[in-house]
Amino acid sequence: MKKSSATVVPRTEPSVTNAEARQLIIDAAMAAGAAAVGIAPAAALDDEAEHEIYNSWLADGRHASMSYMERNEAVRFDPRLLLPEARTVVCVAFAYGPQPRRSALLADYALGEDYHDVLRRRLTPLAESLRALVPGSKTRIVVDTAPMREKWWARRAGLGFVGRNGLLIVPGVGSRVFLAEVLWTGEASADEPCDMSCDACGACTQTCPGRALDSAGSVDARRCLSYLTIEHRGELPEGIDLPGRIYGCDMCQDVCPHNRCVNPPVVQEFLPSEEILALDIEQLAEMTEDEFKTLFGRSAIRRAGAEGMRRNALRKLRR
Ligand code: SF4
Ligand code: SF4
Repeated sequence: MKKSSATVVPRTEPSVTNAEARQLIIDAAMAAGAAAVGIAPAAALDDEAEHEIYNSWLADGRHASMSYMERNEAVRFDPRLLLPEARTVVCVAFAYGPQPRRSALLADYALGEDYHDVLRRRLTPLAESLRALVPGSKTRIVVDTAPMREKWWARRAGLGFVGRNGLLIVPGVGSRVFLAEVLWTGEASADEPCDMSCDACGACTQTCPGRALDSAGSVDARRCLSYLTIEHRGELPEGIDLPGRIYGCDMCQDVCPHNRCVNPPVVQEFLPSEEILALDIEQLAEMTEDEFKTLFGRSAIRRAGAEGMRRNALRKLRR
């Protein structure tokens, strides 16, 4: 993370040092509104344990219908296949919470503008600066749109650690962050990996209403209300109640001690819109396609579609 000490690796060309490149990255990320930034050398992910954990998660079917997670295995484990000759992975966290006002029905992350668009827009100047710093170098911005083990890379870049709730926890910032990466063919001084962990805490595993979490930090999407209310198509499985929100869940974040007493810079575009905050369950249960598009056209909520939103709202109303 940006506080870590830099290791300067001597270079002969280009004329900029790795430490100077590092400083430019930190300055540009902070100017973009990031809550934290970390740097890792780009290489194949050689963590055997990580390969095994991921493959057994897939083999158990815990990814539910997200079959795209089975594809592009080689790319997922080597960012140089996303940007040939990449030497640096810049991992950036942007805070969407704590939200000053929350919806009882919709997850915090979805209250503002779609993070894919916001992060790409905000990171474009950083990528441009890197290409200007080393003429001829190339960059690629990744915001959840390419197969990349982003939480693994964030840990490797010293940004934080993966908690038992399956989310990246950035010390001093919390888990209410969106992650993005900038791959670069230039070189910058890297951070040390984050070696923190949840220790003895198990608050999220005990609180999870779907019993979707285990003590190893593996999330069973088939039982996770966030997956079921957002990604799952068709009827919700029988026996699934929605004790809290109808889009997303957030309970495993609400109980996490790392989300208490933090005050990161929340990105303006992620603050809640008045119209979305004012929605009630009956309105969501009766929402037409046109109303849905008007209200959520620029929000990440559009992924659920009007049909999914109506389905969730009706399930909640029936219980
Ligand atoms: S989002 Fe909700 S259901 Fe999913 S793991 Fe967290 S607490 Fe459990
Ligand atoms: S609630 Fe506790 S166990 Fe769960 S992610 Fe946070 S620190 Fe880890």
